[in-house]
Amino acid sequence: MRPEILFPLFAPSTSLPGLGPRFGKLVEKIAGPQVVDLLWHLPSGLIDRRFAPKVAEAPDGVTATLTVRVDAHLPGGGGRRPYRVRCSDTTGFLHLVFFHPRVDWLQRLLPVGTVRVVSGRVEHFNNEVQITHPDHIVDPGEEGALPPVEPVYPMTAGLPSKTLRRAVAAALDKAPDLPEWADAPLKAREAWPGWREALRRVHNPETPEEIDPESPARRRLAYDELLANQLAIALVRAQMKRQTGRSIRGDDRLRDKAIAALPFQLTPSQREALAEIYADMASPQRMLRLLQGDVGSGKTVVALLAMLNAVETGAQAALMAPTEILARQHFATIGRLAAAAGVEAALLTGREKGKARAELLARLASGEINILVGTHAVFQDDVVFGDLAFAVIDEQHRFGVEQRMALSRKGRGVDTLVMTATPIPRTLTLTAYGDLDVSRLIGKPAGRQPITTRSVSAARLEDVVAAIDRALATGAKVYWVCPLVEESELVDLAAATDRYTHLAGVFGSRVGLVHGRLKGAEKDAAMAAFKEGGIDILVATTVIEVGVDVPDATVMVIEHAERFGLAQLHQLRGRIGRGDKPSTCLLIYTPPLGETAKARLAIMRETEDGFRIAEEDLKLRGGGDLLGTKQSGMPELRLADLAVHQEILETARDDARLILARDPGLASPRGQALRTLLYLFRRDEAVRYIRSG
Ligand code: ADP
Ligand code: MG
Repeated sequence: MRPEILFPLFAPSTSLPGLGPRFGKLVEKIAGPQVVDLLWHLPSGLIDRRFAPKVAEAPDGVTATLTVRVDAHLPGGGGRRPYRVRCSDTTGFLHLVFFHPRVDWLQRLLPVGTVRVVSGRVEHFNNEVQITHPDHIVDPGEEGALPPVEPVYPMTAGLPSKTLRRAVAAALDKAPDLPEWADAPLKAREAWPGWREALRRVHNPETPEEIDPESPARRRLAYDELLANQLAIALVRAQMKRQTGRSIRGDDRLRDKAIAALPFQLTPSQREALAEIYADMASPQRMLRLLQGDVGSGKTVVALLAMLNAVETGAQAALMAPTEILARQHFATIGRLAAAAGVEAALLTGREKGKARAELLARLASGEINILVGTHAVFQDDVVFGDLAFAVIDEQHRFGVEQRMALSRKGRGVDTLVMTATPIPRTLTLTAYGDLDVSRLIGKPAGRQPITTRSVSAARLEDVVAAIDRALATGAKVYWVCPLVEESELVDLAAATDRYTHLAGVFGSRVGLVHGRLKGAEKDAAMAAFKEGGIDILVATTVIEVGVDVPDATVMVIEHAERFGLAQLHQLRGRIGRGDKPSTCLLIYTPPLGETAKARLAIMRETEDGFRIAEEDLKLRGGGDLLGTKQSGMPELRLADLAVHQEILETARDDARLILARDPGLASPRGQALRTLLYLFRRDEAVRYIRSG
C-alpha cells in the first residue's frame, strides 16, 4: 500500500489550484495524470530577465528587460496590421506590437509620456527593434516584482506558460519532506541536496547551470529515478532466482536432423551463441539471455536449435513474435525444419478461432505439439502447455514486462531467450532487465553482398521510377515504403494507396500493396505473391519493418526518409541484401532537411553496421528518446538522461545490489525510505516482491 505521506502527490494533477478542466486536460497531456508528474516535468531552459540593455544594444532573439518612455500609440487601422506602441530611450526606438488588443487596457497600461519597464523577446524586424506581446509591463518602481529568472517548460499548444508554471509551483508546495534514501557517503561526496531541495532547485533555477543535467540537483534526481528502477528490477530478479529453474540437456538427436536439413553452414558466431545458450539451459538456474543480432544475421535458426534442445528432453518450447506477419514467417522457417526433425510445430495467432483453435489447445495441453509459434495470442489464459520449458521472445522490446512474466508462468522454471535486431545499448538493457547475459551474432552469413545506399530528393521521384523500371528488367524485387506521416492511420493509408495507384499506372499488375488495415489473409496473399513472384514491387506502410524475409528482394525505396529514426531506417534497409545479389536502398527525402535528418541520412549512406548506427543514433538523439523507447515498451525515464547519467546508472545498480544483500526485507530505516522511493516512482509492483521476514 502506498504510504500516506505520498497521498498528496498522487492526487489528480487536475486537482491543483488554478487549473480548470480545460487547462487541467492540457497539463495532463504534457506532464501526466498525477501531481507527482508535474514534479517530474523538468524545465528545458530558462529566461533570464536580468539582461537590461539599451534599445540600440538589444540583440535579436534575446529576452531582455528594457526601460523606455512611451511616445505614441499607433493603431493598426482595423485591417491585418497590428496595434503598435512606439517607445524609446536615448539610444533608439522600441515598438511594442499587439495583435487584437483591448485598446482601453493598453492605453491604461502604457499612457503616452510615462516611463515603463518592458520585458520580452526582442526582435529585429524591418530595421526596427520590437517586442511582440511583452511578457511583463510594469512601472519603474515595481521592477522588483519581475521574476529575475523563469524556467521554461516543454509546452503543449493552448496551455499558457504562466499556467503551467503556476501548476508546477503548486505541485512543489505539495511535495512532502521524505526520509532520505540516498546513501549518506555518496550524497556527501557528490554534494547532493535532499530530494525536496533538489526539486525546488531544478524548478526555480537562478542560473543556467542549475538546469544543466550535470548539476548536483539534476544528478540527484536522476539517481533517485535510476535507483528506484534498479531496485525494482533487482527485486523481480531475486524473486525469479528463488523459483528453481531446471537443467535442460538434450541428446542432439533432433538438432542433428535439423542441421542436416539446413541449406547452409552455421556461422561461427551462430555456433558460439548456441554454445552459450545450451550452457545456460543446462544450468539449474533460470536463464534470461538476450540474443542480439543485426537484421539478417540469422537469429531464427539459433532459436530453433535451442528449442529443439528442450524438445529433446520431452518438454515443449514456444516462440512469440510481435506481429502476425512475423509469426507466420518464423513458422514457415521453423515448421519446415521441425518437420525434417520429426517434431510437431503449430501456429497460434489471433486468427485461429473456434474448433481449430480448441483442437490446437488440446494438442498443446497433451504435449502432442512440441513447438508453438505465435503472437500475443499465446499469452491468453486458456493457452495451457503440457510442459513448457523454453520460451523465445522475438523483438522483445515490443512486449511489456508483464507479458514476459505471463509467458514464463505458463511453464515450470522456464528458460527465456530474448531476441532483438535492435542493438540495444547496455545502458538501456540495464534499465529494462538489470544485468542480462548477452549473446551477439556478429557479421552476416557468408556470401552476402553489400547494399548501396543513396539519398534522393523527392523532386526526382520520376528518376527513381525510371531506375526501378531498369532494375525490374534485370529481375529485381522492390520494396517501396511509405511512412507513418500523420497521427491518423487513415491519412497514412491514403498516402500509401496513392503511391500504389501511381506505380500501378506505370507497372500495372506487378505492383502490390500491404498495410496494417488489411485482413490477415489479404496481407499473407500480398506477401506470398511478392515472395513467390507475381508481384515485383511491394508498396508497404511500415508493417514490413520487422523480420520479413524475402531473400531475393534487392531494392528498397523509402519515402520521406527524413521522418524515420536511424534505428527504423536500418531495420527497413535490413529487408534487402539478404541474398547473393547486390542491393540498393534509395532514401527519398523532402527538402529542406534539418541538421539531424541530414546527419541521419549521411550515416545511412556511410555504414551498414547496426552497432555503429545505434551509437550514432544515441549521439544524435542526445538526451531525447533513446531508440524510440517511448514506443518500444522500454521503461521511460523522466529525470535521468542515459546519454549523460550513465555512470549514475552503474552507481544505482551497485547500490541496489548492496542494499538487497544487506537488507533483503528493506526493514532498516533506510530500507523503509527505499520503500517510499519505490512507491514514489510507481514501482508498487516491485514492493510485492520484497522478501518478508
Ligand atoms: P534475423 O536475424 O533478421 O531474424 P533470419 O533468421 O531471418 O535473420 O535470417 C536471415 C536469412 O539468412 C534467412 O534467409 C536465413 O535462412 C539465412 N541464414 C541464416 N543463417 C545462415 C547461415 N549461417 N548461412 C547462410 N544463410 C543463413
Ligand atoms: Mg528474425
